[in-house]
Amino acid sequence: MKNGQPYQPYQPASVWSVDGTEPVTIPSGNTAPTTLLPMEADVAIVGGGYTGLGAAYTLAQHGQRVVLCEGRTFGWGASSRNAGMLLTGLSRTYSDIAAQYGSAVARKLFRASLKAVDHAVSLIEREGIACHLHHSGHIVLANRAHHMADLSREATLLQRECSHPVRLLSQTQLAAEIGASCFAGGLLDEASYSVHAAKFVAGLVQATLRAGAVLFEHTPVERIARLRHGFLLSTPRGDVLAQAVIVATNGYTGHLTPSLRRRLVPVGSYSIATEILPDHLAQSISPRNRLFYDTRHIGAYFRLTPDNRLLYGGRDITRPDQDGAIAARAHSLHHELLQVFPQLHGVRIAYAWGGNVCLAFDGLFHAGPLDGIAGLYYAAGYAGHGGALASYTGRVLAERILGIAEDDDLLALPPLPAAPIPYDGDPWFVPLVGSAWKLLDQVGR
Ligand SMILES: Cc1cc2nc3c(=O)[nH]c(=O)nc-3n(C[C@H](O)[C@H](O)[C@H](O)COP(=O)(O)OP(=O)(O)OC[C@H]3O[C@@H](n4cnc5c(N)ncnc54)[C@H](O)[C@@H]3O)c2cc1C
Repeated sequence: MKNGQPYQPYQPASVWSVDGTEPVTIPSGNTAPTTLLPMEADVAIVGGGYTGLGAAYTLAQHGQRVVLCEGRTFGWGASSRNAGMLLTGLSRTYSDIAAQYGSAVARKLFRASLKAVDHAVSLIEREGIACHLHHSGHIVLANRAHHMADLSREATLLQRECSHPVRLLSQTQLAAEIGASCFAGGLLDEASYSVHAAKFVAGLVQATLRAGAVLFEHTPVERIARLRHGFLLSTPRGDVLAQAVIVATNGYTGHLTPSLRRRLVPVGSYSIATEILPDHLAQSISPRNRLFYDTRHIGAYFRLTPDNRLLYGGRDITRPDQDGAIAARAHSLHHELLQVFPQLHGVRIAYAWGGNVCLAFDGLFHAGPLDGIAGLYYAAGYAGHGGALASYTGRVLAERILGIAEDDDLLALPPLPAAPIPYDGDPWFVPLVGSAWKLLDQVGR
């Protein structure tokens, strides 16, 4: 017991490892311990999350010989641990992107996010993926009264420049949406959806296998060698010769692609989930079953799960693979959750976990040829918004390889910037930047 609250024990695992009382299993693809990789493929994919699976699915549907190698298990990275929010928009606001890159770029990026949500929804429906797809809508919550001015500017720009309907909610109107009184208002976007994150991965694996791709887990790619015609990928299961390669490792990008690693920053994002709530309590939190995140630099995101738990998450300056990081962040998230929803005093925390989100130095996501090498592609930097964007970006890369890309908006973005400071891929500066952001949040800036 901590502060009189039931705090331990929780499962140190994602809430998506279950659905109600049923365990959730993600299929393991073509992997038997002794199976070797095929010797040749048209396209080889590194990483078995939403990006890699989204690309493999599209390529296999077009008859390509696809081999996907995942170092751990499918969805092991962020894809099976996220909050299951298929959100419109990006991590940076439309206003912010328009101010830096102009309206044309901001519009392209925002439209890409809308297409990404459409893509995920139609893929789930077409393939009959049972992942609790729900048309939830999301609300950005203003932590301070003066944040409402930012949300109002955002609403005006989205309506005027993207013809996208969003609605500003006063504090009084917000009361019909959330059982918390600490927010000054919000911005409602009805276009977002929610899913059970791991069941989405499981369905994607099944659909991709049905389409004919060869999927290997426990198969880390150790080396990509450029040959005169194609690439040779080396793994503990042998080598595969491929005409094209997609690196889909996002927040888990390692020494395999050092130039990419030096341009990406992995940042820890953590969540806790309560025990199953009685209906009246769940209803009191989110009567319309919305998705929520707030306006702080290191803000919170939360939602009800399909089995009626409250999932509450936020980033941190630590990383989940550091000793004690999950326990410490679970404690601070629980403390915060009770401040937002005092009605949950006495409710047990049942799950706590973390994973890496991936930030580029401009806070935007990027996809395209890696190091300008023809045939070698990457996609990364979704900054906590890859739930829908990642599988869509995988599809766009696949279509580029197939030569059928109708929509190259994604590939016409500002280039992936180099680090503006000395950086070899070990993000030494995250605690410094994170502490500065926390300070700004405390003073309300
Ligand atoms: C706690 C948390 C909550 C989040 N909540 C949301 C949300 O609600 N909505 C949203 O839009 N986004 C959310 N995100 C972000 C979202 O989950 C990611 O943007 C998305 O899953 C990225 O998918 P991906 O396939 O690019 O990367 P990942 O799913 O991270 O997959 C990368 C994979 O590459 C593998 N890999 C790495 N190196 C190798 C190698 N050498 N060989 C083989 N495999 C390798 C890793 O094992 C990993 O499985 C959240 C993220 C976290 C961590």
